[in-house]
Amino acid sequence: MKKKEFGICAICDREGILTYEHIPPKSVGNSKPKLVKGHEHLFEETSYLFGKTKKLNKGFGKNCLCETCNNFLGANYVNDYVDFVNQCLEQYNSSPSFENFKFYTFQIKPLNVFKQIFSMFVCINQGVFSDDDKKLIKDFILCKENKVFIENHNIYVFNTFSKFDKWCGVQVAYNGGKLNRCSEIAYKPFGFQMTFGSEPTNQFFQILNRFINFEIDQKVEIEIAIPRYDINNVFIGQ
Ligand SMILES: [Zn+2]
Repeated sequence: MKKKEFGICAICDREGILTYEHIPPKSVGNSKPKLVKGHEHLFEETSYLFGKTKKLNKGFGKNCLCETCNNFLGANYVNDYVDFVNQCLEQYNSSPSFENFKFYTFQIKPLNVFKQIFSMFVCINQGVFSDDDKKLIKDFILCKENKVFIENHNIYVFNTFSKFDKWCGVQVAYNGGKLNRCSEIAYKPFGFQMTFGSEPTNQFFQILNRFINFEIDQKVEIEIAIPRYDINNVFIGQ
């Protein structure tokens, strides 16, 4: 028997047994063992972990959601997110050429997709939100129809086909004299950046907040010009 982990759920904020949340969902390929390097492996030279890697047997993710919230995402948003990924891969594979942007046409449920992407950022940034934001986050994710999104946060998309993946909690970066506060999740074909009261690190990333303008479960045709930006290292925007 595996040891059960207790803690606070990143979405509903209740204490209890935590379940493993795959980020992104395992049905987009994130179910195989993954070698990862975290802060302690990369930067903490005095740590015995420095220079080493950690193996996540179930794919990338963490014990951060109660079973109810985990199942809620699975029942309501995950399949719509998987659709979004698969349609991107289909269009990319049928014509992999890229100018600065690639023009995609998706038949998706934008609000459902947005709520799934946002849930992934909530999981990797647990602990950084204020109590007021936590209340908004919980209502936005768990009340399907709710469209009140936390202020000063935007989610952007780009394409990445790098061999590296990235899960980066909020970081501050100096970019040509400007300060960016962003979190980033990159797992081919998509990279997402969520900003915390700043601009994204790249002005060509496409904002996804307009997905909130649709109704829950509303399926529409949507066109997006997505820039390609292959990630190279662990820092946001790089
Ligand atoms: Zn929960």
